[in-house]
Amino acid sequence: MSSEEFFNEAKSLLPGGVSSPVRAIKPYPFYTASASGSKIFDVDGNEYIDYCMAYGPLILGHNHPAVKMAIVRQLDKGWIYGTPIEQEIALAKEVVKYYPSIDMVRFVNTGTEATMSAIRAARGFTGKDKIIKIEGGFHGAHDAVLVKAGSGATSLGAPDSLGIPPDFIKHTLQVPFNDVGAMTDAMDAYEDIAAVIMEPVMGNVGPILPEAGYLQEVRTLTKENDIVLIFDEVITGFRLAMGGAQECYGITPDMTTLGKILGGGLSIGAVGGKKEIMENISPAGKVYQAGTFNGNPVSLTAGLATIDILRREKIHQKVNSMGDELRARLRDIIDDHGLGYTVAGIGSIFKIFFGGEVHNYQDALKCDRKVYLEFFGRMLKSGVFLPPSQFESNFLSSAHSTDDIEKTINAYEANLA
Ligand SMILES: *Cc1c(COP(=O)(O)O)cnc(C)c1O
Repeated sequence: MSSEEFFNEAKSLLPGGVSSPVRAIKPYPFYTASASGSKIFDVDGNEYIDYCMAYGPLILGHNHPAVKMAIVRQLDKGWIYGTPIEQEIALAKEVVKYYPSIDMVRFVNTGTEATMSAIRAARGFTGKDKIIKIEGGFHGAHDAVLVKAGSGATSLGAPDSLGIPPDFIKHTLQVPFNDVGAMTDAMDAYEDIAAVIMEPVMGNVGPILPEAGYLQEVRTLTKENDIVLIFDEVITGFRLAMGGAQECYGITPDMTTLGKILGGGLSIGAVGGKKEIMENISPAGKVYQAGTFNGNPVSLTAGLATIDILRREKIHQKVNSMGDELRARLRDIIDDHGLGYTVAGIGSIFKIFFGGEVHNYQDALKCDRKVYLEFFGRMLKSGVFLPPSQFESNFLSSAHSTDDIEKTINAYEANLA
């Protein structure tokens, strides 16, 4: 069957025809037959250079042979036990080694569960209820963080989804990224703020970097007000560097959430932090957290294999310099054609904003999403699979070759002109 035929069948079985909203490409998404290295192959016989990379986990590319071997070796021994296993200690040691903010860690299944558990632990630890999040910041799909954009720093949040009682959101405040004043105002307006949760580099509205000194100011403000600072590094962890954005920017939060790369392409999440906070989590303490699939042996094994390769092959140097080169060449194309678009990103994350400079979510909203979607379609026809949204970041992997980059640059040149 063709992608179109599959999608027509899927529409009556899956809401919107898909299992997660961003995948619902119009008029129909391609159905993947297989993927290897930097390439993804659809059931219609097309081949694409992939910059979606499953939205972040695949820093080594698809179907990496060493990661696959590690998974297969684990499968030979069984894939879920419901008992402790050695690998959870091994992966915890890696996480603790690279993240000075983490003394202890709980392995869960998704980034969503990680941020949900981090917020609960911060509330349990501080005995306070409110949280501050950044407007446009994405922390998964649970109630406390699905807040409508656009309310002021000192007004209480409203749900951004049906099915969330407004009462469940009234403890969530939102402030714009890169705005110390708004953060200060929110902290002045409310006494009972348990935590600030933020992506230190925003990744889910396209990549937005923190301005000089911003993260440091947030660190200082949270310390002064006894507020737990949670860095959501589900994208940036093991992506920008082994120690994530907190290593790059030299800021130590109180808690960190990880996911995506940590599972080597299999489902995982992790919540970590200082001992005095983490020891509140059950069964050590009274903040409840549990899961049938927590510490899944196959995910832990794939994560360990991935981290080993990242370290031994110095992957970050390679993908980060590839990112620098790509961004520079995209800037040249945009300048040559006088387009006035913005090339954004850091390390192996990049994106063209179809608009001016972007410092926060409201800036990102000003980009021309319609033109982006047309551009996405043309790139796909040219054999380059970008995320189908202006607000999703593009990811490089160590599997992308210089030949891939040349073809990609040519496709950008042809389709931007
Ligand atoms: C992807 C993502 C999540 C959610 O992770 P899932 O595994 O999809 O639940 C949370 N936070 C950030 C920053 C993410 O990019």
